[in-house]
Amino acid sequence: MRNVGIDIGGTKIAGGVVAEDGTIMERLRVSTPKAPAALADAVAEMVGALAERHEIHAVGVAAAGFIDATRSVIIHAPNIDWHDEPLRAELEQRIGRPVTLENDANAAGWGEYRFGAGRGSANMTMLTLGTGVGGAVIIGGELLIGGNGIGGELGHIRFIRGGRPCGCGQLGCLEQYASGRALQREANEIADAGGIGAALADARTAEGVIPGAEMERLVQAGDAGALEAIHRVATALGEACGEFQAVLDPDLFVIGGGVASLGDRLLEPVKAAYATALPGHGARPVASFAIATLGNDAGLIGVADLAHIRG
Ligand code: BGC
Ligand code: ZN
Repeated sequence: MRNVGIDIGGTKIAGGVVAEDGTIMERLRVSTPKAPAALADAVAEMVGALAERHEIHAVGVAAAGFIDATRSVIIHAPNIDWHDEPLRAELEQRIGRPVTLENDANAAGWGEYRFGAGRGSANMTMLTLGTGVGGAVIIGGELLIGGNGIGGELGHIRFIRGGRPCGCGQLGCLEQYASGRALQREANEIADAGGIGAALADARTAEGVIPGAEMERLVQAGDAGALEAIHRVATALGEACGEFQAVLDPDLFVIGGGVASLGDRLLEPVKAAYATALPGHGARPVASFAIATLGNDAGLIGVADLAHIRG
């Protein structure tokens, strides 16, 4: 039985036909249109193209935002222009079949739990580091949805009181200190200060961006400025994981999203900061940490599986 999974991100829409064991049979990708109607058209077109070539059982769509309890409406999206967007109805009208809608990080967490780094770990917490910081909480093998559908938004815990403004309307959210965007901000600050920031400044494009591949190259080469930028982001993330442990007590944290491609260079300082922030450290069991293994495919694989289960 094959299912379609579509992952709507801020810059691209990734879609694929996924077999029951999580294998992707075919994949498609387009850039994300800005207007909500054009975005829904693009998703419908993608599903149509895949359904022409495969016999499809269920369709799942993952999107970066707060989804209501009935899994129909994107109530709010900190980084996409959606306000009470009835995405599920818009997609079902266009596609002509039922659609399962899920938060992108929840979908990625479910994908990792079923087929990736979290296999066999029934109490797993995932954090995705990209434009935002996404969270997924698996407890006793079940995905936490919450009473209103918006549970597990781990990127929006208040990390710094009175801190940086966040797209969710609050100040000081973890997302502003531990996302891919936050990494850019830290790297730019270090580059501007000179000294250890020289190589980061050289790697910066005319638009003032340090491309992900350049950041990775500098980190792997042990550049002091790039490592300092990672250290800041990893420390924020690790400290937050200590607090998540107090509430959720997972046996495993899985770290995914674009920044996770930095691997152990990211994970080591995360674990060190986690240890300093963990209540009862030294006297209690600690969680393991792993980098996501499904990469950018986690969301589409996870949401295809959820569509299959729920459908
Ligand atoms: C949103 C989440 C989303 C995450 C990753 C956050 O800003 O609130 O819903 O999962 O970004 O895209
Ligand atoms: Zn926020």
